[in-house]
Amino acid sequence: MTITLDLSRRSNALPGKKRLTGLSVPALKAELEAMGLEPKPASMRARQLRRWIHHFGVTDFAAMTDIAKDLRAQLAEKFELDRPDIADHQVSRDGTQKWLTRYAPGIEGESVYIPDVGKAGALCVSSQVGCTLNCTFCHTGTQALVRNLTAQEIVQQVIIARDALAEWPSSNEDRRLTNIVFMGMGEPLYNLDNVAEAIDTISDGDGISIGRRRITVSTAGVAPKIPELGARTGAMLAISLHATNDDLRNELVPLNRKYDIKTLFDAIRAYPDLGNSKRVTFEYVMLKGVNDTLAEARDLVKLLKGVPSKINLIPFNPWPGSPYECSDWETIEAFAEVLNRAGYASPIRTPRGRDILAACGQLRSESVKVRASELRKQRLATEGSEAQG
Ligand code: SAH
Repeated sequence: MTITLDLSRRSNALPGKKRLTGLSVPALKAELEAMGLEPKPASMRARQLRRWIHHFGVTDFAAMTDIAKDLRAQLAEKFELDRPDIADHQVSRDGTQKWLTRYAPGIEGESVYIPDVGKAGALCVSSQVGCTLNCTFCHTGTQALVRNLTAQEIVQQVIIARDALAEWPSSNEDRRLTNIVFMGMGEPLYNLDNVAEAIDTISDGDGISIGRRRITVSTAGVAPKIPELGARTGAMLAISLHATNDDLRNELVPLNRKYDIKTLFDAIRAYPDLGNSKRVTFEYVMLKGVNDTLAEARDLVKLLKGVPSKINLIPFNPWPGSPYECSDWETIEAFAEVLNRAGYASPIRTPRGRDILAACGQLRSESVKVRASELRKQRLATEGSEAQG
């Protein structure tokens, strides 16, 4: 595998200037204090900055009319308000959009905007580049973990989508981006600190203002972190279940060997605020001849008894070299019918963006983990050849 270093783009290559876009209020405050502001004014300025950056979406300090001119000039000298580079942007026939964002040289991750999902449209964000879990049906699982995304990088995915949809300032009317789902690359509960900080920023009413109940975090089942996720974020919970017995789940979701179905359900029952107003979403990928019998549909109903829940049956989305096939449509409908009769409404999720590999489980980037020393060597080599050319 190769790694390409692109140092020709201005924003990711410029040393010295720090990007403020996507930073949380506490992180903004820390930057201002580092500039020499006292805690109190730093706090006030951080809140002003967050409103300009995350409510109005400004990319220029000159627009910040309630901040004194000389402070604006100082800020512009030290900081940037630009976005990370977009290495690729594709739009599907069905309106789904996918971005491949380059956070740093060789560090790339995907996000997907899906219209007509949630209240108006949902953005599926990544929490890691690559993944450690190796679920056998998931494309991301074939890519090793490169690194966790920072809270700022997670928020930047939302900002990039907002830019493309031209939805600044944040308004509550006619928004097309109303929901966030942590269902992109990576396991959010293995990066909970950053995910929680990102959710604080995304849900901030004076900033991006997407409410916590419109934010869903999906996990393959990191049981000990599940109640903590609820307590720290107030977000909605989704569980990638995919099997109703431990033998099969051990195979499909190897994490099950660590936290089996019983342990997982004990953790789910401890999720704060579970009740009529907060339901858990269970995702179940339909794999032909693997997990799609009617007996399994009935087992699923039994398993979910007593847990306020919704079910999403996800037709398996193939990817190059994938070892499974999607269940036949009649099989999926018959499976859904069992769930319907048990009171679960419209459980089948239509695949979106398959033509641009933007559907569930199709995300993957070419990023690979490189040692810092190797990166430095490559950077020096590139800089050397650029200086000569
Ligand atoms: N690691 C977290 C977040 C990723 S969510 C988790 O597992 O929940 C991605 C969702 O897409 C998960 O429900 C996953 O099981 C599902 N998925 C993965 N590969 C898929 C595929 N090829 N077709 C359909 N759904 C898939």
